[in-house]
Amino acid sequence: MSVDAPTQLAPGIHRLGNEYVNCYLLEEGNDLTLVDGGLPGFRPQLDAYLQSRGRSVKDIAAVILTHAHADHVGIVEHVREDTQAPVYVHAKDAEMARTGKTHRRDGSMLPYLRYPALYKLFLVAGRAGGARTPNVEVLTTFDAEQDLDVPGRPRIIPTPGHSPGHVAFHLPEHGVLIAGDALCTYNPLTGSEGPQLMPRAFAADSLQMQKSLEAIERIDATLTLFGHGEPWTESPQAAVDRARELGLT
Ligand SMILES: [Zn+2]
Ligand SMILES: [Zn+2]
Repeated sequence: MSVDAPTQLAPGIHRLGNEYVNCYLLEEGNDLTLVDGGLPGFRPQLDAYLQSRGRSVKDIAAVILTHAHADHVGIVEHVREDTQAPVYVHAKDAEMARTGKTHRRDGSMLPYLRYPALYKLFLVAGRAGGARTPNVEVLTTFDAEQDLDVPGRPRIIPTPGHSPGHVAFHLPEHGVLIAGDALCTYNPLTGSEGPQLMPRAFAADSLQMQKSLEAIERIDATLTLFGHGEPWTESPQAAVDRARELGLT
């Protein structure tokens, strides 16, 4: 698995990031929405990609967060400062975005220490500035299933558990689901690939995270995107079935 360069996955849907962490751009006319902010080191890649398409960071009209873990807010504050774009996050993750203080975690890191993937993750995240994520100073919060009036017209699908205010974004007109960390196709601690739940050691509430699969499996989409791992082109239902078979990781 690798992401050598940002790519357009579908008309108006772009993927940025590295082999461990993804973020996305939605394009509607001249306006863009940044979905999650990856790691701080992603900013030059964003600027270069936009420039290659005759665009600039100023075209970003909104930033939307699946949740406020550090690996999803890396470039957000600087993009916000440069564009004055609103940054949308669920009310239950707003404090984490503002302060960088994370919630209590549901599992220990100890079981994962035997996996080389863990050490690669820290190395790559460290190189991309993962240890110094700027807090987001100004936020717009939401707290329920609703359509967001931003480029791409994402519908908020609450999927709490991985974090208290985690949400997925459904783009019905594109047949795309951005699942964030409600599911992944690359487990950043074990290195295992394919649809599965994110590890317990990163979760606020594992039982709630499993329950939130019910919100994912009802979505009609032909492309599902994740915070970690490759896109999934079977149905969300098929991804959820695989994740349930594996159980907690
Ligand atoms: Zn996360
Ligand atoms: Zn993540």
